[in-house]
Amino acid sequence: MANFNIDADKNLTYDAIVIGSGISGGWAAKELCEAGLKTLVLERGRIVEHVVDYPTMTLDPWEHELRGGLTPEQKAKHPKGGRSGFIGAMNEHFHANDLENPYTEVKPFMWVRAHQMGGRSLLWGKQTYRWSDLDFEANAKDGHGVDWPIRYKDIEPWYTHVEKFAGISGEALGLPQLPDSHFLPPMELNCVEKHVKARIEKEFNGRNMIIGRVAHLTEPLNGRGKCQFRNRCDRGCPYGAYFSSNAVTLPAANATGNLTIRPFSIVQSVVYDEQKGKASGVRIIDAETGEDIVYKAKIVFVNASTLSTTQILLNSTSNRFPNGLGNDSGELGHNLMDHTYRVGAMGTVEGFEDQYYKGRRPNGIYIPRYVNLKDGPQSDKFVRGFGFQGGGGRSGWGAGGNQEDFGGNFKDGLMKPGPWEFFITGFSECLPYHENQVYLNKDVLDKWGQPTLSIDAEWKANELALNDQARKDAKEMLERAGLKDIMEFDNKHEMGFGIHEMGTARMGRDPKTSVLNGNNQVHGCENVFVTDGACMTSSSCVNPSLTYMALSARAANHAVSELKKMNL
Ligand SMILES: Cc1cc2nc3c(=O)[nH]c(=O)nc-3n(C[C@H](O)[C@H](O)[C@H](O)COP(=O)(O)OP(=O)(O)OC[C@H]3O[C@@H](n4cnc5c(N)ncnc54)[C@H](O)[C@@H]3O)c2cc1C
Ligand code: SF4
Repeated sequence: MANFNIDADKNLTYDAIVIGSGISGGWAAKELCEAGLKTLVLERGRIVEHVVDYPTMTLDPWEHELRGGLTPEQKAKHPKGGRSGFIGAMNEHFHANDLENPYTEVKPFMWVRAHQMGGRSLLWGKQTYRWSDLDFEANAKDGHGVDWPIRYKDIEPWYTHVEKFAGISGEALGLPQLPDSHFLPPMELNCVEKHVKARIEKEFNGRNMIIGRVAHLTEPLNGRGKCQFRNRCDRGCPYGAYFSSNAVTLPAANATGNLTIRPFSIVQSVVYDEQKGKASGVRIIDAETGEDIVYKAKIVFVNASTLSTTQILLNSTSNRFPNGLGNDSGELGHNLMDHTYRVGAMGTVEGFEDQYYKGRRPNGIYIPRYVNLKDGPQSDKFVRGFGFQGGGGRSGWGAGGNQEDFGGNFKDGLMKPGPWEFFITGFSECLPYHENQVYLNKDVLDKWGQPTLSIDAEWKANELALNDQARKDAKEMLERAGLKDIMEFDNKHEMGFGIHEMGTARMGRDPKTSVLNGNNQVHGCENVFVTDGACMTSSSCVNPSLTYMALSARAANHAVSELKKMNL
Protein backbone atom coordinates (compact mmCIF):
# COMPACT_ATOMS: atom_id res chain seq x y z
CA MET A 1 0.00 0.00 0.00
CA ALA A 2 0.66 3.66 0.03
CA ASN A 3 4.13 4.09 1.57
CA PHE A 4 3.61 7.71 2.43
CA ASN A 5 6.46 10.16 2.01
CA ILE A 6 7.41 11.10 5.58
CA ASP A 7 10.66 12.83 4.71
CA ALA A 8 9.75 16.35 5.82
CA ASP A 9 13.09 16.88 7.53
CA LYS A 10 14.83 17.29 4.16
CA ASN A 11 12.68 20.28 3.32
CA LEU A 12 11.43 22.96 5.69
CA THR A 13 9.48 24.97 3.09
CA TYR A 14 6.30 23.91 1.26
CA ASP A 15 3.54 25.55 -0.76
CA ALA A 16 0.92 24.55 1.79
CA ILE A 17 0.77 23.13 5.30
CA VAL A 18 -2.24 21.20 6.59
CA ILE A 19 -2.45 20.65 10.35
CA GLY A 20 -4.17 17.35 11.13
CA SER A 21 -5.03 14.41 8.88
CA GLY A 22 -8.59 13.63 9.99
CA ILE A 23 -11.75 14.09 7.94
CA SER A 24 -11.26 17.78 7.14
CA GLY A 25 -7.44 17.76 6.89
CA GLY A 26 -7.54 14.77 4.53
CA TRP A 27 -9.84 16.68 2.18
CA ALA A 28 -7.73 19.84 2.31
CA ALA A 29 -4.60 17.78 1.55
CA LYS A 30 -6.21 15.98 -1.39
CA GLU A 31 -7.49 19.16 -3.04
CA LEU A 32 -4.24 21.10 -2.52
CA CYS A 33 -2.04 18.24 -3.77
CA GLU A 34 -4.25 17.66 -6.79
CA ALA A 35 -3.97 21.37 -7.63
CA GLY A 36 -0.19 20.91 -7.77
CA LEU A 37 0.81 22.39 -4.40
CA LYS A 38 3.66 20.72 -2.52
CA THR A 39 1.77 20.03 0.69
CA LEU A 40 3.03 19.09 4.14
CA VAL A 41 0.51 17.41 6.45
CA LEU A 42 1.56 17.71 10.08
CA GLU A 43 -0.02 14.99 12.19
CA ARG A 44 0.54 14.73 15.93
CA GLY A 45 0.10 10.96 16.01
CA ARG A 46 1.61 7.98 14.26
CA ILE A 47 1.19 6.83 10.67
CA VAL A 48 -1.76 4.45 10.21
CA GLU A 49 -1.62 2.94 6.75
CA HIS A 50 -4.85 1.62 5.32
CA VAL A 51 -5.23 -2.14 6.05
CA VAL A 52 -1.56 -2.59 7.12
CA ASP A 53 -2.17 -0.85 10.45
CA TYR A 54 -5.61 -2.27 11.32
CA PRO A 55 -4.45 -5.05 13.71
CA THR A 56 -7.92 -6.02 15.00
CA MET A 57 -9.93 -5.72 11.77
CA THR A 58 -10.70 -9.43 11.47
CA LEU A 59 -10.43 -10.58 15.10
CA ASP A 60 -13.35 -12.43 16.66
CA PRO A 61 -13.95 -12.01 20.40
CA TRP A 62 -12.64 -15.49 21.20
CA GLU A 63 -9.37 -14.68 19.42
CA HIS A 64 -8.77 -11.87 21.88
CA GLU A 65 -7.12 -12.62 25.20
CA LEU A 66 -9.78 -10.85 27.29
CA ARG A 67 -12.65 -11.66 24.90
CA GLY A 68 -12.82 -8.02 23.88
CA GLY A 69 -12.28 -6.58 27.38
CA LEU A 70 -9.84 -3.79 28.20
CA THR A 71 -6.79 -4.41 30.38
CA PRO A 72 -6.46 -2.26 33.55
CA GLU A 73 -3.58 -0.42 31.82
CA GLN A 74 -5.74 0.36 28.80
CA LYS A 75 -8.63 1.51 31.01
CA ALA A 76 -6.30 3.79 32.95
CA LYS A 77 -5.40 5.69 29.77
CA HIS A 78 -9.01 6.79 29.18
CA PRO A 79 -10.49 8.21 32.40
CA LYS A 80 -12.46 10.75 30.35
CA GLY A 81 -12.96 9.25 26.86
CA GLY A 82 -13.97 5.97 28.55
CA ARG A 83 -17.20 7.64 29.72
CA SER A 84 -18.36 7.67 26.10
CA GLY A 85 -18.81 3.91 26.02
CA PHE A 86 -17.10 3.86 22.60
CA ILE A 87 -13.69 2.56 23.71
CA GLY A 88 -13.23 -1.22 23.56
CA ALA A 89 -10.30 -3.58 23.16
CA MET A 90 -10.73 -3.73 19.38
CA ASN A 91 -10.42 0.03 18.88
CA GLU A 92 -8.59 1.30 21.97
CA HIS A 93 -5.45 1.92 19.90
CA PHE A 94 -7.34 4.52 17.85
CA HIS A 95 -8.36 6.64 20.90
CA ALA A 96 -6.19 9.43 22.34
CA ASN A 97 -4.48 8.95 25.70
CA ASP A 98 -6.24 11.24 28.24
CA LEU A 99 -3.29 11.11 30.64
CA GLU A 100 -0.83 12.55 28.11
CA ASN A 101 -3.42 15.03 26.85
CA PRO A 102 -5.33 16.34 29.88
CA TYR A 103 -8.06 18.96 29.74
CA THR A 104 -10.03 20.68 32.48
CA GLU A 105 -13.79 20.33 32.76
CA VAL A 106 -15.00 23.57 34.32
CA LYS A 107 -18.40 22.01 33.65
CA PRO A 108 -18.61 18.34 32.64
CA PHE A 109 -17.61 17.87 28.97
CA MET A 110 -16.63 14.63 27.31
CA TRP A 111 -14.01 15.21 24.61
CA VAL A 112 -13.45 12.19 22.36
CA ARG A 113 -10.15 12.53 20.49
CA ALA A 114 -8.16 10.36 18.09
CA HIS A 115 -4.49 11.18 17.67
CA GLN A 116 -3.15 9.33 14.66
CA MET A 117 -3.12 9.65 10.90
CA GLY A 118 -6.79 9.64 9.91
CA GLY A 119 -7.95 11.06 13.26
CA ARG A 120 -11.57 10.22 14.01
CA SER A 121 -12.27 9.29 10.38
CA LEU A 122 -11.34 5.76 11.50
CA LEU A 123 -13.92 5.77 14.28
CA TRP A 124 -16.86 7.82 13.08
CA GLY A 125 -20.41 6.53 12.55
CA LYS A 126 -20.51 7.71 8.88
CA GLN A 127 -24.00 9.25 9.14
CA THR A 128 -23.80 11.80 6.35
CA TYR A 129 -26.37 14.51 5.66
CA ARG A 130 -26.36 17.77 3.76
CA TRP A 131 -27.38 20.89 5.61
CA SER A 132 -29.97 23.18 4.05
CA ASP A 133 -30.91 26.85 4.10
CA LEU A 134 -33.05 26.01 7.12
CA ASP A 135 -29.65 25.77 8.85
CA PHE A 136 -27.66 28.46 7.04
CA GLU A 137 -30.45 31.04 7.55
CA ALA A 138 -31.40 30.04 11.10
CA ASN A 139 -29.23 32.52 13.00
CA ALA A 140 -30.30 35.43 10.81
CA LYS A 141 -33.97 34.51 11.20
CA ASP A 142 -34.26 33.95 14.95
CA GLY A 143 -31.39 36.21 16.06
CA HIS A 144 -29.24 33.67 17.90
CA GLY A 145 -25.53 33.92 17.09
CA VAL A 146 -24.40 35.74 13.95
CA ASP A 147 -25.43 35.20 10.34
CA TRP A 148 -23.60 32.60 8.28
CA PRO A 149 -21.64 34.31 5.48
CA ILE A 150 -22.73 31.56 3.08
CA ARG A 151 -25.97 29.96 1.93
CA TYR A 152 -26.80 26.50 0.59
CA LYS A 153 -26.18 27.57 -3.01
CA ASP A 154 -22.56 28.43 -2.09
CA ILE A 155 -21.80 24.99 -0.71
CA GLU A 156 -24.09 22.86 -2.90
CA PRO A 157 -21.52 22.15 -5.69
CA TRP A 158 -18.94 21.23 -3.06
CA TYR A 159 -21.28 18.75 -1.40
CA THR A 160 -21.63 17.07 -4.81
CA HIS A 161 -17.87 17.23 -5.36
CA VAL A 162 -16.98 15.45 -2.10
CA GLU A 163 -19.89 13.00 -2.24
CA LYS A 164 -18.86 11.71 -5.67
CA PHE A 165 -15.42 10.82 -4.34
CA ALA A 166 -16.33 9.74 -0.79
CA GLY A 167 -19.28 7.54 -1.81
CA ILE A 168 -22.54 8.16 0.06
CA SER A 169 -25.39 5.66 0.03
CA GLY A 170 -28.95 6.78 0.54
CA GLU A 171 -32.39 7.40 -0.85
CA ALA A 172 -33.38 10.63 -2.61
CA LEU A 173 -36.54 12.15 -1.15
CA GLY A 174 -36.61 15.77 -2.28
CA LEU A 175 -37.09 17.15 1.25
CA PRO A 176 -36.24 20.87 1.46
CA GLN A 177 -34.93 20.54 5.05
CA LEU A 178 -32.62 17.61 4.15
CA PRO A 179 -31.34 18.05 0.58
CA ASP A 180 -30.48 14.87 -1.33
CA SER A 181 -26.86 13.94 -1.86
CA HIS A 182 -25.27 12.43 -4.95
CA PHE A 183 -26.24 8.93 -3.86
CA LEU A 184 -25.05 5.37 -4.33
CA PRO A 185 -27.92 2.85 -3.91
CA PRO A 186 -29.48 2.91 -0.43
CA MET A 187 -29.12 0.10 2.08
CA GLU A 188 -32.36 -1.78 2.77
CA LEU A 189 -34.63 -1.41 5.78
CA ASN A 190 -35.41 -4.72 7.50
CA CYS A 191 -39.00 -6.03 7.69
CA VAL A 192 -39.77 -4.44 11.05
CA GLU A 193 -38.29 -1.10 10.06
CA LYS A 194 -40.44 -1.17 6.90
CA HIS A 195 -43.47 -1.89 9.07
CA VAL A 196 -42.72 0.92 11.55
CA LYS A 197 -41.99 3.34 8.69
CA ALA A 198 -45.37 2.63 7.10
CA ARG A 199 -47.16 3.17 10.41
CA ILE A 200 -45.35 6.39 11.34
CA GLU A 201 -45.79 7.91 7.88
CA LYS A 202 -49.51 7.03 7.94
CA GLU A 203 -50.11 8.32 11.47
CA PHE A 204 -48.11 11.56 11.21
CA ASN A 205 -48.69 13.76 8.20
CA GLY A 206 -45.39 15.08 6.80
CA ARG A 207 -43.15 12.80 8.87
CA ASN A 208 -40.67 10.53 7.09
CA MET A 209 -38.62 7.57 8.17
CA ILE A 210 -35.77 6.66 5.83
CA ILE A 211 -32.70 4.45 5.77
CA GLY A 212 -29.70 6.38 7.13
CA ARG A 213 -27.53 8.19 4.61
CA VAL A 214 -24.02 6.88 5.17
CA ALA A 215 -20.48 7.18 3.81
CA HIS A 216 -20.40 3.45 2.96
CA LEU A 217 -20.02 2.07 -0.54
CA THR A 218 -22.95 -0.01 -1.73
CA GLU A 219 -21.14 -0.31 -5.07
CA PRO A 220 -17.38 -0.48 -5.70
CA LEU A 221 -15.81 2.95 -6.28
CA ASN A 222 -12.31 3.94 -7.39
CA GLY A 223 -10.80 0.59 -6.43
CA ARG A 224 -12.54 0.42 -3.04
CA GLY A 225 -14.77 -2.58 -2.35
CA LYS A 226 -18.41 -2.47 -1.37
CA CYS A 227 -19.57 -2.84 2.20
CA GLN A 228 -19.89 -6.44 3.44
CA PHE A 229 -22.20 -5.59 6.36
CA ARG A 230 -19.85 -6.87 9.03
CA ASN A 231 -20.10 -3.76 11.24
CA ARG A 232 -16.54 -3.78 12.53
CA CYS A 233 -15.82 -0.42 11.04
CA ASP A 234 -14.15 1.19 14.05
CA ARG A 235 -11.25 -1.25 13.68
CA GLY A 236 -10.54 -0.09 10.11
CA CYS A 237 -12.15 -1.63 7.03
CA PRO A 238 -10.11 -4.11 4.93
CA TYR A 239 -12.28 -3.31 1.88
CA GLY A 240 -12.00 0.47 2.22
CA ALA A 241 -15.78 0.41 2.13
CA TYR A 242 -16.37 3.31 4.49
CA PHE A 243 -14.95 6.78 4.09
CA SER A 244 -11.79 7.48 6.04
CA SER A 245 -8.82 9.72 5.32
CA ASN A 246 -6.65 6.60 5.39
CA ALA A 247 -8.58 4.75 2.68
CA VAL A 248 -9.76 7.65 0.53
CA THR A 249 -8.35 11.17 0.63
CA LEU A 250 -4.75 10.66 1.79
CA PRO A 251 -3.97 7.91 -0.77
CA ALA A 252 -5.38 10.24 -3.46
CA ALA A 253 -3.19 13.09 -2.20
CA ASN A 254 -0.21 10.74 -2.06
CA ALA A 255 -0.78 9.58 -5.65
CA THR A 256 -0.03 13.11 -6.91
CA GLY A 257 3.56 12.96 -5.63
CA ASN A 258 2.94 16.30 -3.89
CA LEU A 259 2.19 15.01 -0.39
CA THR A 260 4.58 14.80 2.54
CA ILE A 261 3.10 13.70 5.83
CA ARG A 262 5.09 14.20 9.01
CA PRO A 263 3.88 12.04 11.93
CA PHE A 264 4.57 12.79 15.61
CA SER A 265 4.40 16.51 14.81
CA ILE A 266 2.46 18.40 17.47
CA VAL A 267 1.68 21.82 16.05
CA GLN A 268 2.19 24.31 18.81
CA SER A 269 1.33 27.54 16.97
CA VAL A 270 0.96 29.27 13.64
CA VAL A 271 3.86 31.69 13.09
CA TYR A 272 2.77 35.22 12.16
CA ASP A 273 5.08 37.49 10.16
CA GLU A 274 4.50 41.03 11.49
CA GLN A 275 6.20 42.64 8.46
CA LYS A 276 4.26 40.78 5.80
CA GLY A 277 1.01 40.75 7.78
CA LYS A 278 0.43 37.07 7.19
CA ALA A 279 1.44 33.66 8.48
CA SER A 280 4.85 32.37 7.45
CA GLY A 281 4.44 28.80 8.70
CA VAL A 282 3.95 26.74 11.85
CA ARG A 283 5.98 25.69 14.86
CA ILE A 284 5.94 22.04 15.88
CA ILE A 285 7.22 19.93 18.73
CA ASP A 286 8.43 16.49 17.69
CA ALA A 287 6.38 14.21 19.96
CA GLU A 288 9.19 11.65 20.15
CA THR A 289 12.32 13.81 20.46
CA GLY A 290 10.87 17.05 21.89
CA GLU A 291 12.64 18.96 19.10
CA ASP A 292 11.23 22.39 18.18
CA ILE A 293 10.99 22.91 14.39
CA VAL A 294 9.48 25.64 12.21
CA TYR A 295 8.02 24.74 8.78
CA LYS A 296 7.24 27.45 6.27
CA ALA A 297 4.51 27.69 3.65
CA LYS A 298 2.47 30.16 1.62
CA ILE A 299 -0.81 28.97 3.12
CA VAL A 300 -1.78 27.10 6.28
CA PHE A 301 -4.91 24.99 6.79
CA VAL A 302 -5.73 24.38 10.46
CA ASN A 303 -7.67 21.10 10.67
CA ALA A 304 -6.71 19.68 14.05
CA SER A 305 -10.44 19.14 14.96
CA THR A 306 -12.64 21.83 16.50
CA LEU A 307 -11.14 22.32 19.94
CA SER A 308 -7.54 21.45 19.06
CA THR A 309 -7.67 23.95 16.21
CA THR A 310 -8.83 26.67 18.57
CA GLN A 311 -6.15 25.65 21.06
CA ILE A 312 -3.50 26.19 18.35
CA LEU A 313 -4.98 29.57 17.36
CA LEU A 314 -5.16 30.73 21.01
CA ASN A 315 -1.54 29.68 21.40
CA SER A 316 -0.51 31.63 18.28
CA THR A 317 0.16 35.02 19.83
CA SER A 318 2.09 37.94 18.30
CA ASN A 319 2.21 41.71 18.64
CA ARG A 320 -0.57 41.95 16.07
CA PHE A 321 -2.66 39.19 17.69
CA PRO A 322 -1.88 39.23 21.44
CA ASN A 323 -5.00 37.18 22.28
CA GLY A 324 -4.60 34.50 19.64
CA LEU A 325 -4.48 34.46 15.85
CA GLY A 326 -7.58 36.06 14.35
CA ASN A 327 -8.99 37.03 17.73
CA ASP A 328 -9.72 40.72 17.05
CA SER A 329 -13.38 40.03 17.79
CA GLY A 330 -12.77 38.29 21.13
CA GLU A 331 -14.92 35.41 19.82
CA LEU A 332 -12.08 32.87 19.47
CA GLY A 333 -12.85 30.06 21.90
CA HIS A 334 -16.53 31.04 22.24
CA ASN A 335 -19.85 29.71 20.94
CA LEU A 336 -19.00 26.04 21.50
CA MET A 337 -21.82 23.74 20.34
CA ASP A 338 -22.58 19.99 20.18
CA HIS A 339 -25.71 17.93 19.57
CA THR A 340 -27.83 16.61 22.40
CA TYR A 341 -28.11 12.87 22.10
CA ARG A 342 -29.33 9.71 23.80
CA VAL A 343 -32.87 10.79 24.48
CA GLY A 344 -35.73 8.81 22.95
CA ALA A 345 -37.78 5.64 23.29
CA MET A 346 -37.63 1.92 22.61
CA GLY A 347 -40.12 -0.92 22.44
CA THR A 348 -40.88 -4.35 21.02
CA VAL A 349 -42.71 -5.19 17.81
CA GLU A 350 -45.05 -8.16 17.81
CA GLY A 351 -45.06 -10.70 14.98
CA PHE A 352 -42.46 -11.17 12.22
CA GLU A 353 -41.11 -14.23 14.14
CA ASP A 354 -40.56 -16.09 10.88
CA GLN A 355 -38.33 -13.33 9.49
CA TYR A 356 -34.72 -12.36 10.00
CA TYR A 357 -32.02 -10.37 8.20
CA LYS A 358 -28.58 -11.10 6.82
CA GLY A 359 -25.33 -9.57 8.08
CA ARG A 360 -24.70 -6.66 10.41
CA ARG A 361 -25.78 -3.58 8.52
CA PRO A 362 -23.61 -0.67 9.74
CA ASN A 363 -26.46 1.79 9.55
CA GLY A 364 -29.88 2.52 11.00
CA ILE A 365 -32.93 4.60 10.19
CA TYR A 366 -33.33 8.36 10.14
CA ILE A 367 -36.36 10.54 10.87
CA PRO A 368 -35.62 14.02 9.47
CA ARG A 369 -36.59 17.16 11.35
CA TYR A 370 -40.31 18.00 11.20
CA VAL A 371 -40.80 20.74 13.85
CA ASN A 372 -40.52 24.47 13.19
CA LEU A 373 -40.40 24.06 9.42
CA LYS A 374 -42.18 26.48 7.09
CA ASP A 375 -45.05 24.01 6.73
CA GLY A 376 -45.68 21.84 9.76
CA PRO A 377 -45.95 21.91 13.53
CA GLN A 378 -44.49 24.96 15.28
CA SER A 379 -43.35 25.06 18.90
CA ASP A 380 -43.65 27.97 21.29
CA LYS A 381 -41.27 26.24 23.75
CA PHE A 382 -38.08 26.25 21.66
CA VAL A 383 -36.48 27.38 18.42
CA ARG A 384 -34.85 25.06 15.84
CA GLY A 385 -35.45 21.29 15.93
CA PHE A 386 -34.31 17.69 16.14
CA GLY A 387 -34.11 14.51 14.06
CA PHE A 388 -33.96 10.87 15.13
CA GLN A 389 -31.59 8.01 14.43
CA GLY A 390 -32.41 4.45 15.42
CA GLY A 391 -33.23 1.02 14.08
CA GLY A 392 -34.85 -2.36 14.58
CA GLY A 393 -33.40 -5.81 15.13
CA ARG A 394 -33.85 -9.11 16.96
CA SER A 395 -32.02 -9.75 20.17
CA GLY A 396 -29.61 -12.68 19.79
CA TRP A 397 -27.27 -14.84 21.84
CA GLY A 398 -25.55 -11.73 23.19
CA ALA A 399 -28.61 -11.22 25.43
CA GLY A 400 -27.25 -14.08 27.54
CA GLY A 401 -24.50 -11.82 28.78
CA ASN A 402 -27.00 -10.19 31.12
CA GLN A 403 -28.70 -13.37 32.34
CA GLU A 404 -27.66 -15.52 35.27
CA ASP A 405 -28.10 -19.14 34.17
CA PHE A 406 -26.22 -22.15 32.84
CA GLY A 407 -26.72 -25.51 31.21
CA GLY A 408 -28.08 -26.99 27.98
CA ASN A 409 -31.56 -25.44 28.07
CA PHE A 410 -30.07 -22.01 28.63
CA LYS A 411 -27.71 -22.46 25.68
CA ASP A 412 -30.49 -23.81 23.44
CA GLY A 413 -32.65 -20.83 24.33
CA LEU A 414 -29.89 -18.44 23.37
CA MET A 415 -29.60 -20.05 19.93
CA LYS A 416 -33.11 -18.84 19.10
CA PRO A 417 -33.55 -15.23 18.02
CA GLY A 418 -35.40 -13.10 20.58
CA PRO A 419 -38.21 -10.61 20.02
CA TRP A 420 -38.02 -7.75 17.52
CA GLU A 421 -36.98 -4.50 19.16
CA PHE A 422 -36.98 -0.97 17.80
CA PHE A 423 -35.60 2.31 19.15
CA ILE A 424 -35.12 5.95 18.17
CA THR A 425 -32.83 8.53 19.71
CA GLY A 426 -33.03 12.28 19.08
CA PHE A 427 -30.27 14.62 18.00
CA SER A 428 -31.18 18.23 18.82
CA GLU A 429 -29.65 21.48 17.64
CA CYS A 430 -27.60 23.52 20.10
CA LEU A 431 -27.60 27.31 19.94
CA PRO A 432 -24.33 29.29 19.84
CA TYR A 433 -23.91 30.93 23.26
CA HIS A 434 -20.97 33.27 23.79
CA GLU A 435 -20.53 31.96 27.34
CA ASN A 436 -20.05 28.34 26.17
CA GLN A 437 -16.31 28.54 25.74
CA VAL A 438 -12.82 27.08 25.87
CA TYR A 439 -9.66 28.88 26.95
CA LEU A 440 -5.98 28.09 27.50
CA ASN A 441 -5.02 26.72 30.89
CA LYS A 442 -1.37 27.45 31.60
CA ASP A 443 -1.55 25.73 35.01
CA VAL A 444 -2.26 22.31 33.53
CA LEU A 445 0.36 21.28 30.98
CA ASP A 446 0.39 18.27 28.67
CA LYS A 447 3.14 15.67 28.39
CA TRP A 448 5.12 18.09 26.20
CA GLY A 449 4.81 21.05 28.59
CA GLN A 450 2.17 22.83 26.52
CA PRO A 451 -0.86 24.68 27.93
CA THR A 452 -4.05 22.66 27.78
CA LEU A 453 -7.70 23.62 27.37
CA SER A 454 -10.34 24.40 29.96
CA ILE A 455 -13.84 23.70 28.71
CA ASP A 456 -16.73 25.63 30.23
CA ALA A 457 -19.99 24.81 28.46
CA GLU A 458 -23.46 23.47 29.22
CA TRP A 459 -26.88 22.87 27.72
CA LYS A 460 -29.32 25.70 28.30
CA ALA A 461 -33.10 26.04 28.34
CA ASN A 462 -33.58 25.73 24.57
CA GLU A 463 -31.61 22.46 24.31
CA LEU A 464 -33.41 21.02 27.36
CA ALA A 465 -36.79 21.96 25.87
CA LEU A 466 -35.85 20.35 22.55
CA ASN A 467 -34.78 17.22 24.39
CA ASP A 468 -37.99 17.10 26.34
CA GLN A 469 -40.04 17.30 23.15
CA ALA A 470 -37.85 14.71 21.38
CA ARG A 471 -38.45 12.22 24.21
CA LYS A 472 -42.22 12.78 24.22
CA ASP A 473 -42.42 12.59 20.42
CA ALA A 474 -40.35 9.41 20.36
CA LYS A 475 -42.76 7.73 22.76
CA GLU A 476 -45.80 8.94 20.86
CA MET A 477 -44.41 7.72 17.54
CA LEU A 478 -43.70 4.25 18.89
CA GLU A 479 -47.12 4.08 20.57
CA ARG A 480 -48.98 5.07 17.43
CA ALA A 481 -46.84 2.66 15.40
CA GLY A 482 -48.23 -0.13 17.61
CA LEU A 483 -45.09 -1.07 19.56
CA LYS A 484 -45.35 -2.73 22.98
CA ASP A 485 -43.39 -2.41 26.25
CA ILE A 486 -42.36 1.12 25.35
CA MET A 487 -39.75 2.80 27.51
CA GLU A 488 -38.72 6.44 27.25
CA PHE A 489 -35.14 7.39 28.07
CA ASP A 490 -33.15 10.54 28.66
CA ASN A 491 -29.56 9.91 29.66
CA LYS A 492 -29.15 13.56 30.63
CA HIS A 493 -25.58 13.53 29.44
CA GLU A 494 -23.31 16.53 29.39
CA MET A 495 -22.01 18.28 26.28
CA GLY A 496 -19.43 16.39 24.22
CA PHE A 497 -21.34 13.09 24.09
CA GLY A 498 -22.70 13.96 20.65
CA ILE A 499 -19.02 14.02 19.46
CA HIS A 500 -20.11 16.82 17.14
CA GLU A 501 -18.27 19.70 18.82
CA MET A 502 -18.59 22.81 16.66
CA GLY A 503 -17.87 26.53 16.85
CA THR A 504 -15.13 28.41 18.79
CA ALA A 505 -13.70 30.08 15.61
CA ARG A 506 -16.88 30.87 13.77
CA MET A 507 -17.39 32.13 10.21
CA GLY A 508 -19.25 35.40 9.85
CA ARG A 509 -19.84 38.45 7.73
CA ASP A 510 -18.37 40.93 10.23
CA PRO A 511 -14.77 40.71 11.53
CA LYS A 512 -16.00 42.43 14.71
CA THR A 513 -18.10 39.39 15.66
CA SER A 514 -16.43 36.44 13.94
CA VAL A 515 -13.04 34.81 13.40
CA LEU A 516 -13.33 33.60 9.77
CA ASN A 517 -14.74 35.02 6.56
CA GLY A 518 -17.02 33.30 4.05
CA ASN A 519 -14.10 31.38 2.53
CA ASN A 520 -12.84 30.12 5.92
CA GLN A 521 -9.92 32.58 5.97
CA VAL A 522 -8.87 34.08 9.30
CA HIS A 523 -9.93 37.73 9.44
CA GLY A 524 -6.73 39.78 9.37
CA CYS A 525 -4.52 36.83 8.34
CA GLU A 526 -6.00 35.57 5.12
CA ASN A 527 -3.44 32.90 4.26
CA VAL A 528 -4.64 30.85 7.26
CA PHE A 529 -7.77 28.74 6.70
CA VAL A 530 -9.86 26.87 9.28
CA THR A 531 -12.25 24.31 7.78
CA ASP A 532 -12.99 21.85 10.57
CA GLY A 533 -15.86 22.11 13.06
CA ALA A 534 -14.33 25.19 14.68
CA CYS A 535 -15.62 27.27 11.75
CA MET A 536 -19.30 26.47 12.27
CA THR A 537 -21.63 29.37 12.93
CA SER A 538 -24.60 27.26 14.02
CA SER A 539 -25.02 23.55 14.64
CA SER A 540 -28.13 22.32 12.73
CA CYS A 541 -29.52 19.05 14.12
CA VAL A 542 -27.92 16.80 11.50
CA ASN A 543 -24.44 15.28 11.59
CA PRO A 544 -21.79 17.80 10.56
CA SER A 545 -18.81 15.98 9.01
CA LEU A 546 -20.06 16.06 5.41
CA THR A 547 -20.27 19.85 5.75
CA TYR A 548 -16.65 19.98 7.01
CA MET A 549 -15.62 17.97 3.92
CA ALA A 550 -17.44 20.32 1.54
CA LEU A 551 -16.15 23.47 3.27
CA SER A 552 -12.60 22.08 3.21
CA ALA A 553 -12.72 21.34 -0.52
CA ARG A 554 -14.33 24.73 -1.22
CA ALA A 555 -11.73 26.66 0.82
CA ALA A 556 -8.80 24.71 -0.64
CA ASN A 557 -9.93 25.53 -4.17
CA HIS A 558 -10.41 29.17 -3.18
CA ALA A 559 -6.88 29.21 -1.73
CA VAL A 560 -5.44 27.80 -4.95
CA SER A 561 -7.25 30.40 -7.05
CA GLU A 562 -6.12 33.24 -4.75
CA LEU A 563 -2.52 31.97 -4.88
CA LYS A 564 -2.67 32.00 -8.68
CA LYS A 565 -3.86 35.63 -8.53
CA MET A 566 -0.96 36.41 -6.14
CA ASN A 567 -3.48 37.51 -3.49
CA LEU A 568 -2.04 35.41 -0.68
C1 LIG B 1 -17.61 7.24 17.67
C2 LIG B 1 -17.81 8.44 16.78
C3 LIG B 1 -18.92 8.48 15.94
C4 LIG B 1 -19.11 9.59 15.10
N1 LIG B 1 -20.15 9.55 14.20
C5 LIG B 1 -20.30 10.56 13.31
C6 LIG B 1 -21.31 10.47 12.31
O1 LIG B 1 -22.02 9.47 12.19
N2 LIG B 1 -21.46 11.52 11.46
C7 LIG B 1 -20.68 12.64 11.55
O2 LIG B 1 -20.89 13.57 10.76
N3 LIG B 1 -19.69 12.72 12.48
C8 LIG B 1 -19.49 11.71 13.35
N4 LIG B 1 -18.47 11.77 14.28
C9 LIG B 1 -17.65 12.99 14.34
C10 LIG B 1 -16.53 12.97 13.31
O3 LIG B 1 -15.65 11.92 13.57
C11 LIG B 1 -15.79 14.32 13.38
O4 LIG B 1 -16.72 15.35 13.11
C12 LIG B 1 -14.69 14.41 12.34
O5 LIG B 1 -13.77 13.36 12.43
C13 LIG B 1 -13.97 15.75 12.50
O6 LIG B 1 -12.98 15.85 11.52
P1 LIG B 1 -11.71 16.74 11.82
O7 LIG B 1 -10.87 16.71 10.61
O8 LIG B 1 -12.16 18.05 12.32
O9 LIG B 1 -11.00 16.06 13.07
P2 LIG B 1 -10.45 14.61 13.35
O10 LIG B 1 -11.02 13.63 12.39
O11 LIG B 1 -10.64 14.37 14.79
O12 LIG B 1 -8.89 14.75 13.02
C14 LIG B 1 -8.07 15.68 13.66
C15 LIG B 1 -6.61 15.31 13.45
O13 LIG B 1 -5.77 16.36 13.88
C16 LIG B 1 -4.70 15.82 14.63
N5 LIG B 1 -4.23 16.86 15.56
C17 LIG B 1 -4.87 17.34 16.65
N6 LIG B 1 -4.12 18.29 17.25
C18 LIG B 1 -3.00 18.43 16.52
C19 LIG B 1 -1.84 19.25 16.63
N7 LIG B 1 -1.71 20.15 17.62
N8 LIG B 1 -0.86 19.10 15.71
C20 LIG B 1 -0.96 18.20 14.70
N9 LIG B 1 -2.04 17.40 14.55
C21 LIG B 1 -3.06 17.51 15.43
C22 LIG B 1 -5.27 14.59 15.30
O14 LIG B 1 -4.26 13.69 15.68
C23 LIG B 1 -6.19 14.06 14.20
O15 LIG B 1 -5.51 13.19 13.34
C24 LIG B 1 -18.22 10.68 15.14
C25 LIG B 1 -17.10 10.63 15.98
C26 LIG B 1 -16.89 9.51 16.78
C27 LIG B 1 -15.65 9.46 17.65
S1 SF4 C 1 -19.42 -2.97 7.75
FE1 SF4 C 1 -18.75 -2.42 5.71
S2 SF4 C 1 -17.51 -0.60 6.00
FE2 SF4 C 1 -17.73 -1.52 8.02
S3 SF4 C 1 -15.91 -2.80 8.25
FE3 SF4 C 1 -17.53 -4.08 7.36
S4 SF4 C 1 -17.26 -4.00 5.14
FE4 SF4 C 1 -16.11 -2.31 6.06
